[in-house]
Amino acid sequence: MEARTFWLVMAAGFLVVAIWESLRPHRELSIPGERRWSRHGLLLIVSSATSVGIYRIGPVVVAASMAHSRFGLFHQIALPYAVQFILTILLLDFLRYAVHWAEHHVPILWRMHQVHHSDPDFDLSTGARVHPIETVLVQGATLGAVALLAPPVAAVLVVELVTCFQVFFAHANVSMPVGLEKVLRRVVVTPQMHRVHHSEDAGEQSRNLSEIFPWWDHLFRTYLATPAAGDAGLVGMKGLQNTGSLDLWFMLSQPFRRERQALVDPVVSQGSSVRS
Ligand SMILES: [Zn+2]
Repeated sequence: MEARTFWLVMAAGFLVVAIWESLRPHRELSIPGERRWSRHGLLLIVSSATSVGIYRIGPVVVAASMAHSRFGLFHQIALPYAVQFILTILLLDFLRYAVHWAEHHVPILWRMHQVHHSDPDFDLSTGARVHPIETVLVQGATLGAVALLAPPVAAVLVVELVTCFQVFFAHANVSMPVGLEKVLRRVVVTPQMHRVHHSEDAGEQSRNLSEIFPWWDHLFRTYLATPAAGDAGLVGMKGLQNTGSLDLWFMLSQPFRRERQALVDPVVSQGSSVRS
């Protein structure tokens, strides 16, 4: 049931954002959308199949199997159900932030994650552009955290579904009224906020790492309101802003190539202006 609900929400989320993108696009893409969607769709299939093949079960099933176990943090501390529910949502989203931070600061993890960043454009299909090893690592971290916490099953399902939709929304090439976006980004990561993270500037790539709630970026001072180059600034990775970056074999082999982009120089990174 978890898998069916997940794929249903994924399809619905994809459709909603796709229609929005076609009606109110933020910017024109440098490479036709059909080409991007087909290549990124293929990578999504490879990554999902690899992860499902390895783990066989999802976070909701792990949470359900922990419900009657003696182990798990929430079984040791007596907290009201509502508090457990909210804590689960916050902790699992913070885990995503922490893993994402590590992907930008630990060289071996950056090898995998730069596949996501080497997309020469930014639209909902960018959300599907994740290397299979990164998918396996993120899913492993989530499964491990759920097993350690033994959280409410419904809370885990909520996080899974919201995250699924948010992956598309945060990468959406959509425009929205400035006032609405300003209010929205106080509670959820908006496409305009996440676009900063996909800037071609290596320093800006280590900003705006949150997935659902933007609060982690404010808390850990990784928030950047706008890119230095402004709204028209380029996305992707310098030298890789071409159609070759959409090749499936390129995406699968990029972590193992020599010509990888180096991690951001921490001195340069600290010099970037952080506004909150
Ligand atoms: Zn990133």
